[in-house]
Amino acid sequence: MMPELRKTGINVVGDMPWGTHFCHFYETKGDLLDTLVPYFKAGLESDDFCVWVISEPVTPEDAWDALRGAVPELDRYFSQRSIEIIQAREWYLHEGTFDRGRVAAAWNEKLTQALARGYPGMRVSGNTSWLDRNGWEDFAEYERHLNDSIGGQRMTVLCTYPLATNSAADLLDAARTHQFAIAKRRGKEVVETPQLKRARDEIRRLNEELEARVTERTQQLEAANAELRSSAAQLRLLAEAIPQQVWSHLPDGSVNYCNQRWLDYTGLTPEEAQRDGWAKYLHPADVEPTLKAWRESWSGGTPYTGELRLRGANGRYRRFLSRAVPIYDDRGHLLQWFGTNTDIEERKHAEEALHEAQAELAHVTRLATMGELAASLAHDLNQPLAAIVTNGGACLRWLDRDPPDIDEARHAVQRIIQDADLAGEVIAHTRALLRKSSGDRTPLDVTEIIRGVVLLVHPEVMRHHVAIDESLAQGLPPVLAARVELQQVVLNLIVNGIEAMANVSDRRRRLGIRSERHDLDGGPGVLVAVEDAGVGITMEQLDRLFEAFYTTKEHGLGMGLSIARSIIQAHGGRLWVSANPHHGATFQFVLPAASTPGS
Ligand code: ADP
Repeated sequence: MMPELRKTGINVVGDMPWGTHFCHFYETKGDLLDTLVPYFKAGLESDDFCVWVISEPVTPEDAWDALRGAVPELDRYFSQRSIEIIQAREWYLHEGTFDRGRVAAAWNEKLTQALARGYPGMRVSGNTSWLDRNGWEDFAEYERHLNDSIGGQRMTVLCTYPLATNSAADLLDAARTHQFAIAKRRGKEVVETPQLKRARDEIRRLNEELEARVTERTQQLEAANAELRSSAAQLRLLAEAIPQQVWSHLPDGSVNYCNQRWLDYTGLTPEEAQRDGWAKYLHPADVEPTLKAWRESWSGGTPYTGELRLRGANGRYRRFLSRAVPIYDDRGHLLQWFGTNTDIEERKHAEEALHEAQAELAHVTRLATMGELAASLAHDLNQPLAAIVTNGGACLRWLDRDPPDIDEARHAVQRIIQDADLAGEVIAHTRALLRKSSGDRTPLDVTEIIRGVVLLVHPEVMRHHVAIDESLAQGLPPVLAARVELQQVVLNLIVNGIEAMANVSDRRRRLGIRSERHDLDGGPGVLVAVEDAGVGITMEQLDRLFEAFYTTKEHGLGMGLSIARSIIQAHGGRLWVSANPHHGATFQFVLPAASTPGS
């Protein structure tokens, strides 16, 4: 339970419970009255019984006058005997001596009477200026005793000590024998209590401790900061040194970091890069697919990977492989995206060159076969042709004789016929050779062959912006063929189709590739059709396309279709072309299905 509080009337002290024993040091009489008058005024107005023990230089008149000036109803209190003003010597001394037991007993009696008269308690002030040095010890003992015994009594005691006549040691003694001390020097009030002092010391100690802790923490923080700075510098160095463009985006898409490599490439300042972002530097054709892929990564929070062209400071585009990962905080909130752009322009060139080389190789293989064939043909035919020429000359000479030697001429013509037969045999032999030429024939899945070739021509397809439309039947019967030759045929038809659409810009560059079952000469077979939307073929071309060395291309050889047809025919199949109703041409071939054992 909170103790009952009494107004002390002294500002710096405020309200205090019964049982308060404090002292007041004053410099002037004015300082003393300034404290005691409000003290007693508050006491009277709180219905306390008041006893003011005065000493020089304050006289009873001074005290009454001062009170009268402050307490309007003083007369009433006086007539009720609510306040007594007593001279210190009369109160404290008996026959010139101070007896603390007697004084204590007198106070007790006063309190008892006051309580008996219905006062809630007694408010007291005693002055000590009458004390001389001899009585000091005794009085101090009395104060100590009062301090110990006052707790729980309905009494408030304020002892006043003049600053001028007491030594510092005396004042310290006085302060020690009271619960707290207040002082008034020329109108200024201060309050000092042992508890307050202890509290101040404690605060000072805590402050010092705090300061020490702050210093220590600051040092730790500085060390951590230095470490952070150094690891941040390391990381920055890494981000700047790696041979890639490095960047980071905030969740709202704004760029918050680009390494120097990125800035060097685009020719932007960091501020411009942050302001403009990167989408502005994308190749127009890459904007839509890139943003679409980004949106997907963004909404799914999944890593992003994409190939794109970025415009450099020189205005030229280069191809990059762009990758980015989302970074989240502990609670799963997206913090930012970290990304890299790897320049793949050179690699792309190399890849394209490789594919071109592969295509060339296929071409060269065909040419080499043709070259070999041509050389051996030339060699084998040279001899019978030379003999035919010689015998032709001889025949003419026998006929030019007069009379003509018909027999010899007939012999010469017979030898010509023999040589011509020989030449025919050479050709027949070569055709037979051609039939057997490229590799062993094995049962092959045409669909699988087509898929392999489509993969091979992928770069060409991309470069020419061609859309491949496959319609490949499953479970087709195998055909008996040499894999490489069949690949060559399919490759040729597809490449021709792509090239036929090279200049097409008013329609989709669609290349349809179809495989299906198709009877051949009454037996099972497989049909492959390659349908383009290219320039198409004219009636005159129809017959000539399959002739060797027929080409309409600047760098064409005109051998592709003729070889393709001989390969298909050598496999017992047929290859033909037809014009499409609207655009382009369809080349197709049928091969007989490999006969299964027992069929
Ligand atoms: P090359 O492709 O070296 O010219 P080919 O024998 O493969 O040799 O083709 C011969 C010619 O047939 C081509 O130059 C071209 O005029 C024509 N041709 C081939 N395929 C097509 C096609 N899909 N559309 C139109 N013309 C074609």
